[in-house]
Amino acid sequence: MTEILLKVERLKKYFPIKGGVFGKRIGEVKAVDDISFIVKKGETLGLVGESGCGKSTTGRMLMRLLEPTEGQIYFDGKDLTFLSNREMRKIRKEMQMVFQDPFASLNPRHTVEKILEEPLIVHGIGDAKERKQRVKEMLEIVGLSSYHAKRYPHQFSGGQRQRIGIARALMTKPKLIIGDEPVSALDVSIQSQVLNLLEDLQKEFGLTYLFIAHDLGVVRHISDRVGVMYLGRLVEITDSEKLYENPLHPYSRVLLSAVPIPDPTVKKDRPLLTGDIPSPANPPQGCAFHTRCKECMEVCKIVRPELKEIEPGHFAACHLYQ
Ligand code: SF4
Repeated sequence: MTEILLKVERLKKYFPIKGGVFGKRIGEVKAVDDISFIVKKGETLGLVGESGCGKSTTGRMLMRLLEPTEGQIYFDGKDLTFLSNREMRKIRKEMQMVFQDPFASLNPRHTVEKILEEPLIVHGIGDAKERKQRVKEMLEIVGLSSYHAKRYPHQFSGGQRQRIGIARALMTKPKLIIGDEPVSALDVSIQSQVLNLLEDLQKEFGLTYLFIAHDLGVVRHISDRVGVMYLGRLVEITDSEKLYENPLHPYSRVLLSAVPIPDPTVKKDRPLLTGDIPSPANPPQGCAFHTRCKECMEVCKIVRPELKEIEPGHFAACHLYQ
């Protein structure tokens, strides 16, 4: 049986809304509202949804860059939920993040060598000579050259900067990489190069990925399983193939219809997403998607559907199946 590397149970993140003269708490934004999932060792789980659906907040909670309001996070068998900052720092060696905007996440005043060395210094790994050697090796591994070590981030293209971001994440030999929209800021032609690099690195180092993106087309390329989020909740989660061949949730169907098809002669039914995403501070009652769903029934406006296994390994939260 495949081992589980990451397990998330009933995770919630509510941000308070303060108002009035005394700044009292007058409400809350339910950015992540009771989600559970697992990531197996060596697999890639894609997490998709529109902006504001809670996927990035989830990624940040897993790293404990944001404190969960409720719920549990288990990494490699350890419960991270109540670890102190000091204990958490040790764990971060094994779980690293790659961010959307490589330019913003790389210090412009530091050379690439200094940027890549930093995680090793923070975690007390190697002496100066060993660290410099690892920087050189890592640059080659991500498709750059050792002579790039003395350059600054602005001297690289967007795709190269993301390679540096990936190299930095790999410096401490982590088990899990959380990619928060890691290719969204790149040109389409460069996106596939970076995705291919991530796939190669996964095979070479046995990495596990949680890949966060708003574009199902991008996630399809790399994911073994995909979870679809809407307004802070998981509405569908299953194997990548099952989701693309037979999406159950109406929201997943709409997201999928927006993915371009390479063959222009193939016609496909394109259900469109109407209306804006509701505010997570005031989510609709019942199914949060009911205000935009073409298949909405009376029950959907009142009762919130739970995420249930509809067919083996295929979970959806929708009254059409309950
Ligand atoms: Fe649409 Fe109802 Fe399913 Fe929600 S529960 S997605 S409103 S059919």
